[in-house]
Amino acid sequence: MSEAEKKDEAFVRCVNVRKSFGSNEVLKGINLEVKKGEVLVILGPSGSGKSTLLRCINHLESMDSGLITVGGEAIGYEWRNGELWEAPYAKVARQRRKIGMVFQAFNLFPHLTVLQNVMEFPVHVHGVPKDVAQKKALEILDRVGLADKAYQYPRRLSGGQQQRVSIARALAIEPELLLFDEPTSALDPELVGEVLNTMKDLAGQGYTMIIVTHEIPFTREVADRVVFMAGGVVVEEGKPSDVMVHPKTERFRTFLSRYL
Ligand code: ADP
Ligand code: MG
Repeated sequence: MSEAEKKDEAFVRCVNVRKSFGSNEVLKGINLEVKKGEVLVILGPSGSGKSTLLRCINHLESMDSGLITVGGEAIGYEWRNGELWEAPYAKVARQRRKIGMVFQAFNLFPHLTVLQNVMEFPVHVHGVPKDVAQKKALEILDRVGLADKAYQYPRRLSGGQQQRVSIARALAIEPELLLFDEPTSALDPELVGEVLNTMKDLAGQGYTMIIVTHEIPFTREVADRVVFMAGGVVVEEGKPSDVMVHPKTERFRTFLSRYL
């Protein structure tokens, strides 16, 4: 396959993904594709199923039906005799190494230094030798502008710095896909910019990213493609310069007008 052909092929593929919690159908047949190096932003009102979809992509949640593949592999599942079954935990852990996730709450380990936080998953989950993981972690901290905080504890850092550490932690497993679930929603307004700038840098470095956010100017600037979800379905999809300027549905227009 040529490089050009590779670029055209979807790296993440969600096909008719359905998920209910009890009688509450949260995802009603979601289809979407993300190419390698593409930045997809998912917009949508609270409760529309955005977090559930992200959690299905790295199998923190199991879907009821449909298929999700990342790099051609169904995360959390394996084929047995032509049928798809839940994979054993060890395999899921290995598959998840392809995917880094950043949450709204930073979830850093308070008793570990910044450097130890970034080394934790490579060393303790993926068996990377400590010296190798440390070298890599220091490089990554440097990349997110936090080299000088390596030996500090998280509580000594601002919220924005802590979220950049959790981004560094996601990068430390050398993921092929980065998922962000409202990474700036828990931050004081003056700290949002530094986290968005870090994410913008990553987008510029060619990472494949799926970002759930309400930051509209950031979305206009950084997203290659936007998906607007509401009520568990994809309502609109396209380039930000197109769908965000000329939304086709009243629902998306109303949603956008709230953030202007
Ligand atoms: P969003 O991220 O777009 O705000 P979510 O995916 O978090 O939406 O939630 C969509 C719906 O699913 C909500 O009604 C929420 O209450 C419900 N939900 C999410 N997670 C669970 C869960 N673990 N158990 C039961 N209901 C859930
Ligand atoms: Mg959410």
